[in-house]
Amino acid sequence: MEAVTTPAPLWPIAAVKALRPKQWTKNGVLLVPLIFAKSAVEGGLVVKALVAVIAFSLLASGVYVVNDWVDREKDRLHPEKRKRPIAAGHLGFGSAMFLVALCWAGAGALGWWLGLPFLGVLGGYLLLQVLYTGGLKHMVLLDVMAIALGFILRVVAGATAIDVSVSNWLFLCTLLGAVFLGFAKRRAELSSLEEAASHRANLADYTVPMLPSDKPRYLMGVGRPGDIVGAVKRGIDMFDCVMPTRAGRTAQAFTRRGELNMRNARHRDDPRPIDEQCGCPACRHHSRAYLHHLIRADEILGSMLLTWHNLHYYQDVMRGLRGAIESKSLDSWIASFESDQALGDIPPL
Ligand SMILES: [Zn+2]
Repeated sequence: MEAVTTPAPLWPIAAVKALRPKQWTKNGVLLVPLIFAKSAVEGGLVVKALVAVIAFSLLASGVYVVNDWVDREKDRLHPEKRKRPIAAGHLGFGSAMFLVALCWAGAGALGWWLGLPFLGVLGGYLLLQVLYTGGLKHMVLLDVMAIALGFILRVVAGATAIDVSVSNWLFLCTLLGAVFLGFAKRRAELSSLEEAASHRANLADYTVPMLPSDKPRYLMGVGRPGDIVGAVKRGIDMFDCVMPTRAGRTAQAFTRRGELNMRNARHRDDPRPIDEQCGCPACRHHSRAYLHHLIRADEILGSMLLTWHNLHYYQDVMRGLRGAIESKSLDSWIASFESDQALGDIPPL
């Protein structure tokens, strides 16, 4: 795989970028015990707490560089990560390892100065990072727990550095806050995925294996016919959603051959129904041209007929899915559903 062909920045700039200084803000958590210690105004303690923050930041930066080196091939296939200095080829193996050695030697020296207990917590944090990137980050729930434990270790490290004890309530607040942040992060990742249609499916992957298999599984607010079929494939039993009715009120029809907008001019003189094979009153008694006219004229009957059609089609889909599950032919049913959807609407006249 070729590296990105942008002009290479100066070595120090690439190096600083590889250290991800933005991430250092997370280590501000180490200052929490100092803030709650009644002796926060003592100059000596403030220096110690700040040194602890720097030690953690250096350690974390070293971990980022190692990870970027290990993941460089994979990162080059990613639209954003390919710009990282190592993936982009701006930092070679020698430079990267030199950076890591510098960071970890600095972290170790500062840790030594703060005392053995702090050095121990620092080592524990390094171990956690290795476990996290080595596999925990791909494990449902454990990933979030590992992030939360990382924050706990930061608080403990901050307390150890200034030689105060962490109260139970501070432990609890940190744990709850960190778990909240961890799940918020996962949620943000899920909803920022480019494929909006597949993001609900990912959510189902995250949840379904944890639900009891002998109870009905209900997914709220899903969705388009393709999303429902995908969720059924993952084991969801029940749905409720405004989609068929709301779409019907906004001129949108769901059909075997995908979605269509009845407001479009192509339907103006089309005497054919929305779907030849549909048995609903809108399709049996009315043409696309008439439905198009009703919608254009803001006639409420247009919304009613399209809603009727959409609900009828959804019932057809669910009936088909139930039949396919009973006859153990779900996979082939889904394959033919998907190939029909991919056809797109019938050609205009
Ligand atoms: Zn119909």
